Amino acid sequence: MDVLSVASEAYPLVKTGGLADVVGALPAALAEEGVRVRTLLPGYPGVTNALRDAQTVWTFEHMFGGPARLLAGQAGGLDLFVLDAPHLFARYGNPYIGPGGHDWPDNPLRFAALARVGASIAQGLLPAWQPNVVHGHDWQAALLPAYLFYDAAPRRAGSVITVHNLAFQGQFPRELLASLGLPPWSYSLDGVEYYGAIGFLKAGLRFADAITTVSPTYATEIRTPEAGMGLDGLLRLRGGSVVGILNGIDDTVWDPATDKLLAGRFTAADLSGRATNRAAVGARMGLHADPDAPLFAIISRLTWQKGMDLLPAAIPTLLAEGGQLAVLGAGDGEIEAAVRGAAAEHPGRIGCVIGYDEALAHQMQGGADALLVPSRFEPCGLTQLSALRYGTIPVVARTGGLADTVIDASPMALHAKVATGVQFTPATAEMLESAILRTATLYRDTAAWRRMQTNGMGTDVSWRDPARRYAALYRSVAV
Ligand code: ADP
Repeated sequence: MDVLSVASEAYPLVKTGGLADVVGALPAALAEEGVRVRTLLPGYPGVTNALRDAQTVWTFEHMFGGPARLLAGQAGGLDLFVLDAPHLFARYGNPYIGPGGHDWPDNPLRFAALARVGASIAQGLLPAWQPNVVHGHDWQAALLPAYLFYDAAPRRAGSVITVHNLAFQGQFPRELLASLGLPPWSYSLDGVEYYGAIGFLKAGLRFADAITTVSPTYATEIRTPEAGMGLDGLLRLRGGSVVGILNGIDDTVWDPATDKLLAGRFTAADLSGRATNRAAVGARMGLHADPDAPLFAIISRLTWQKGMDLLPAAIPTLLAEGGQLAVLGAGDGEIEAAVRGAAAEHPGRIGCVIGYDEALAHQMQGGADALLVPSRFEPCGLTQLSALRYGTIPVVARTGGLADTVIDASPMALHAKVATGVQFTPATAEMLESAILRTATLYRDTAAWRRMQTNGMGTDVSWRDPARRYAALYRSVAV
């Protein structure tokens, strides 16, 4: 089984969020299932510069406004195809946003080009390597199944689209239709038309042989008007073609016994190394050394989706319970300012690092007591999985993948000794406060807390089971 994975980011080469983690980790997990994956990425400088043993396997005279080459090679532990199209991708920094903080105006062309090349490979562009399945991720790859449909080539691979976040849909003016290489008749309700525009994700959901999203609960939620964001009708129509497969985390990268980014390593049997991480985080964030204070952590994009605007209202409760708070994240300017303000107002008890810091994220997971994830919606969420693996208790809103991966410390679950965290719903400041209260109470019950840590660390959050599910899905659509 040969699969072409098509995506706009892949860890460790280019990452803005969980999408990159998934695209980067799945190939190795799928190899265990007998699936060979090659990943097609845009030729951003960070990707082309990292590429080893690069060979030009195809050249395009006209690729949406300029010449381009298709390169094959390895980088970041991945077998890659790279679309080297300097007029589209030779730009440093965030893959989607220009220096002024706005989306690149030619984003529709940039990612249509990626999908176009993916579709051509699916149709046999490269005789030496023909995939059985093409697997596109998010709106950036979602025109791929539409190209396959309108090309109507005699042979094509089966197609899968994965929705990592339905909030990012890729909607662009209808005037672009011809420049995207789509025929006039594709602009219809049954085609790529979406609320008076061209919908990339809509097109993918319409034409892919199978649709996956990243948790069973999110797969159910996005079929409702409340969470469907305009696409619920189409998703209901696709019925059984929509399945939820949970993400995993790379349990070799996230292994508390060997993790080189940690200040102290530890195991489920001996958690003493956690104190070293806690001290390192405290030193970095200027927190008082207070081993009795429950340390709450946040590692997140600081956005409305993540419920980060709820934080200021919950801080008094957290402090009243004797807690400390460490925040690592970046995002909305207003929320960043609020977090900085809270840290300035409560020095020693609230600390923050505004920015992106992989090592600090690991140390926080390895040293904090609880991780707050008050997301309004969360397709899967990865931070709660790392938290489970590292003995940090996830305190999460009961939505999407958070609902599927954390067992709430209800009286029943505590009695049965199966609890792994705390859930609350809905994601409001009041419910976040009451979850913090409940967490602080649990924290004082040392035996119950230790049991939750052990349960979490014993949970399988690896890619093994998800990889089996993807492999089975590939077999069902393979050509
Ligand atoms: P999303 O993709 O919606 O941002 P996920 O929870 O699925 O959220 O994935 C976020 C990933 O990015 C996780 O691997 C998390 O550890 C990491 N992350 C988020 N913010 C930061 C940060 N400021 N520094 C380091 N890692 C971060």
